[in-house]
Amino acid sequence: MSDKFNVYLEFTPALRFFLHQGCKSGTVQKQLSHATSVKDVVESFGVPHTEVGKIKVNGETVGFGYHMSPGDRVTVSPVDPASFGGFGLQPEPGDNPAFIADEHLAKLVRRMRVLGLDTHLFSGGSDRDLLALMQNGNRILLTRDRRLLMHNIVRSGYCIRSSDVFQQVCEVVRRYCLAGRMQPFSRCPSCNGKLEVADKISLLNRLEPKTRRYYWNFFLCDSCGKIFWRGSHAEKLESFVAAVREGCNYSEL
Ligand SMILES: [Zn+2]
Repeated sequence: MSDKFNVYLEFTPALRFFLHQGCKSGTVQKQLSHATSVKDVVESFGVPHTEVGKIKVNGETVGFGYHMSPGDRVTVSPVDPASFGGFGLQPEPGDNPAFIADEHLAKLVRRMRVLGLDTHLFSGGSDRDLLALMQNGNRILLTRDRRLLMHNIVRSGYCIRSSDVFQQVCEVVRRYCLAGRMQPFSRCPSCNGKLEVADKISLLNRLEPKTRRYYWNFFLCDSCGKIFWRGSHAEKLESFVAAVREGCNYSEL
C-alpha cells in the first residue's frame, strides 16, 4: 500500500534565489512518503532554515518542527528585520551579538572587527569543530555554505549573498540591526581582541623612530599585544565606517 502524498509550497520572492534550477518561480510541489518536518521540506529546495522568518501552512503560522500532512499548502517568507517582529522564527540578535565566520570570509571578518563587532574567524578545522565553537560561544554563523547553515544545531545564521566585501558588511549590519551597535576601532582586526588605550612611554622601545616622533595616541590589543595608532590608513578606515553607516540605512531597503 502506498502512502505517498503531495504538498505544495510557495516561496516569497526574496527567497527564490536560493531555489534550485527549475524551481525559480517559487511555486513548487513535493511528493512525500512519510511524515516529514516542514524544515526538511523547505531545505530540500535549497533554502536554509536560518533564512526563513515565517512559515504558514494552510494559513496558520507554524514552527520548523511541524509535520507535513497530505495536501498541505505552505507559504515560506524571509527574515525581515526592517519590519516589526520580522525575525519571526529566528532568534532576535540581542544587544551584543557575537559572530563566527568560515575561512572564506576573512576579509569580511576584518572589516566587522574594525566596526567593533565581535567576530571569530574559523579556519583549519572540520565543520563539526566550527559548529561546536558556534554553539559554545553562542555565536551567529556567517557563511556562503548553505549546507552548513542547514544543520539543526544552527540556531542563528546568515548566508552571505554578495562577493563584494563592503556589500557583505552591509548585509550583516542590516540583517542584525547593527548600525546603532557598532563601536568602531574598539577591536583588533587581526585577532578580535579588545583595544585598550596604551601609555606611549611603556611602548617606546617597540615603536619605529618616525612613529615615536609623530604619534601620541596608541592602543594595545589585549589579546595579541599588537599596537595601533592613527596612521596612514586611518582616513580610509574612517570613510569605510562612514560609508557603512550611510549605506546600511534601512530606508534604502
Ligand atoms: Zn589582536
